[in-house]
Amino acid sequence: MALIVQKYGGTSVGSTERIRAVAEKVKRCHDHGDQVVVVVSAMSGATNRLVSLAKEIAPHPSAREMDVLLSTGEQVTISLLSIALQQLGVEARSYTGGQVHIRTDNAHSKARIVDIDGRRVRTDLDAGRIVVVAGFQGTDQDGNITTLGRGGSDTTAVAMAAALRADECQIFTDVNGVYTTDPRVEPNARKLDRITFEEMLELASSGSKVLQIRAVEFAGKYSVPLRVLSSFEEGEGTLITLEDKDVEKAKIAGIAFSRDEAKLTIRGVPDHPGVAYQILGPIGEANIEVDMIVQNIGKDETTDFTFTVHRNDLPQALEILQKTAKDLGAREVEADDKIVKIALVGVGMRSHAAIASNMFKALSKEQINIQMISTSEIKISVIVDEKYLELGVRTLHEAFDLNRIETQA
Ligand code: ADP
Ligand code: ASP
Ligand code: MG
Repeated sequence: MALIVQKYGGTSVGSTERIRAVAEKVKRCHDHGDQVVVVVSAMSGATNRLVSLAKEIAPHPSAREMDVLLSTGEQVTISLLSIALQQLGVEARSYTGGQVHIRTDNAHSKARIVDIDGRRVRTDLDAGRIVVVAGFQGTDQDGNITTLGRGGSDTTAVAMAAALRADECQIFTDVNGVYTTDPRVEPNARKLDRITFEEMLELASSGSKVLQIRAVEFAGKYSVPLRVLSSFEEGEGTLITLEDKDVEKAKIAGIAFSRDEAKLTIRGVPDHPGVAYQILGPIGEANIEVDMIVQNIGKDETTDFTFTVHRNDLPQALEILQKTAKDLGAREVEADDKIVKIALVGVGMRSHAAIASNMFKALSKEQINIQMISTSEIKISVIVDEKYLELGVRTLHEAFDLNRIETQA
């Protein structure tokens, strides 16, 4: 008898018909003799609808109340799925995050799970029940409802699997696995049978929304066997594995991209020690994450400094930077939210030179101007104008032969 945690995303529970189909699938697993915990997202579109309702009332609703509001989306699906399971004659019980003690910090809208007490879930499982848990939510130490950031149900599932020492965590979604890039942008994208945690982490952190980055982090940290599969068709999906050696030895595993980028530039800053800290310190204090950073070589004792943030954080970051510019006597501040990031990811890059230059060559052939570059051992990211997103992704997919299975090391 295995203990399986299954997670179904928004599209998979997007209608009562689909919820019934999920119930059938869960029941089959249970009939097979396995213990099953199911984590569900809100019905597709529900979270966005709740966000717009709040924005109709206030442009910047408080984060605490937003969490109370958004967590209701998942409460709808846990009850509907439990009702569907009971209709099929199986015992099922639904729980909100707080009810199964998913304890988080108090960072509303991007809370981190700090602890899960799996005892209540275990008692139900041992009594032969299917347990249905609301994804994306928890409570902080004072009992306030928190949410885990968009896509957070993936993280609930993995954290649940870690806490219960589950045999596998299965993420059921609307694609049948992890692809070389988003199949919606590149129809020639190829499904991967396996991918390493390291690569999946880089793809997720560069914008591949198929798994939330924290879910991958959690799975790597607690060695949770993790698989991405289709809710709608049979198949093995993609296994996220710790084992480098089992993975196809491709140079590039995949291409990620993110539309959630914005770029800020401060020009004519006095070039003296501590200036980077003076610029980025206040941004960090406001809890705004900075991604890429470039400081140009100074001339006339001044320099230009550019960095990127999440597009949602742009208005606040701009306000802070304008104040810093005044304090430092900088010449001007510029903001640009018409940019995107494209990243090539692969552990095989470590042993292959010339990947970066081949990437730049392919982009230049299409006249795509690169605005910023950042590299790590297993990732090369570029910032380009948003109008080049699709062309850039397809060009790189083709240039690195990602539609074909590589065999060489
Ligand atoms: P769910 O609602 O089930 O959580 P998401 O929309 O969050 O589903 O994630 C699945 C989507 O992720 C796919 O429909 C696909 O468009 C997108 N995606 C982005 N990058 C990839 C990739 N490399 N492989 C597979 N899907 C990807
Ligand atoms: N419902 C939340 C969202 O839309 C969480 C999730 O689906 O994972 O982001
Ligand atoms: Mg998702």
